[in-house]
Amino acid sequence: MPTRARTIFLLAVCFSAMAASPPEHSAGEQESGVDLRALAALEPVDIHTHVAKGDPAFYAMLDRLHMHILDILLVDDHDAYRKELNSQRQDAQRMIRERHGYAVLCTSFDPFQFNNPDFAMLTMRGLNQDFSHGAIAVKIWKNIGMELRDQNGRYVLSDDPKLEPIYRDISRHNRTLIAHQAEPDEAWRALNPNGLDYSYYKEHPVWYMYAKPEAPKKQQILAARDHVVAQNPKLRVVGAHLGSMEDDLRGLAERLDRYPNFAVDTAARVIHLVVMPSDKVRAFILKYQERIIYGTDLGFAKDEAAPDVINEWQDQYARDWRYFATRDIFEYEGHKTGGLGLPPEVIRKLYHDNAVHWFPGILTPHNSE
Ligand SMILES: [Zn+2]
Repeated sequence: MPTRARTIFLLAVCFSAMAASPPEHSAGEQESGVDLRALAALEPVDIHTHVAKGDPAFYAMLDRLHMHILDILLVDDHDAYRKELNSQRQDAQRMIRERHGYAVLCTSFDPFQFNNPDFAMLTMRGLNQDFSHGAIAVKIWKNIGMELRDQNGRYVLSDDPKLEPIYRDISRHNRTLIAHQAEPDEAWRALNPNGLDYSYYKEHPVWYMYAKPEAPKKQQILAARDHVVAQNPKLRVVGAHLGSMEDDLRGLAERLDRYPNFAVDTAARVIHLVVMPSDKVRAFILKYQERIIYGTDLGFAKDEAAPDVINEWQDQYARDWRYFATRDIFEYEGHKTGGLGLPPEVIRKLYHDNAVHWFPGILTPHNSE
């Protein structure tokens, strides 16, 4: 796609211009509208990343953007690396040490220990150890609700009584729960080659629930998540990926109205907003400006090369900034759109203030908050 290649080239120009911090803008930079110095000035936070390793050039890119990240662990039994928590923990802690306060840990636990009689006790022990080493949040993943089964072969939902003491413990430690529960509606529908997530379900049939009629429906999974939020009013719950209500802003608004302890991140779902009418999305974000937190779902896997990862991250940050902060007309992942041009105070909440509020400790004192 030549248009896209040109856009990426322009973005690359902006980034290198920014790296050198020149006082003036080049004409091209102003035209492209993606001057990320305004983003960097916010001390932005990306609360949804999966970084398994570090690299000096990767760190330099984050430094140029002043980007703070929350590094999220999760147990995925379909992924050789994510299967096991301990090595993930060690890799994350190494990267976090190297980032000197610009990266913080969101830990997790192994849900596949569920049928162990000491599951809750052992889980809390592991989490408490991670809390004492600086973890500020805990992630539960979609395998709860969509894969995990109890001893009787029944699917386990997130409001299972065996999980409740764990939520209470997270709340007691004043940590935040990130809940990635369910998936976009497409996972429960006949495959549609024009769907936004078509290629994902083609490549990951294990999460294509349309083919698994015996598994819980999306509404059941979200109802269980809502139940956890309601049962634990002091627990901050952040629904990953717009709370999996990326195609249903009305349903999401209802939840946000009902549960003051519930917020959502934008990770990997900005494209769902892009294809909706901009005035509707803009009004939604303005109304819930304290409850939407910027996140990407960007990763740095063990087998990835730093230059590729750096390009991917830069492009994503530039694309999202262009969508939220500017009025540019441009292509977002192949979809022509107009930037929302959100007011500066709302941009500040999206990229910084809300992360600080919903994730206490995300910026350490080291970072002069
Ligand atoms: Zn993620």
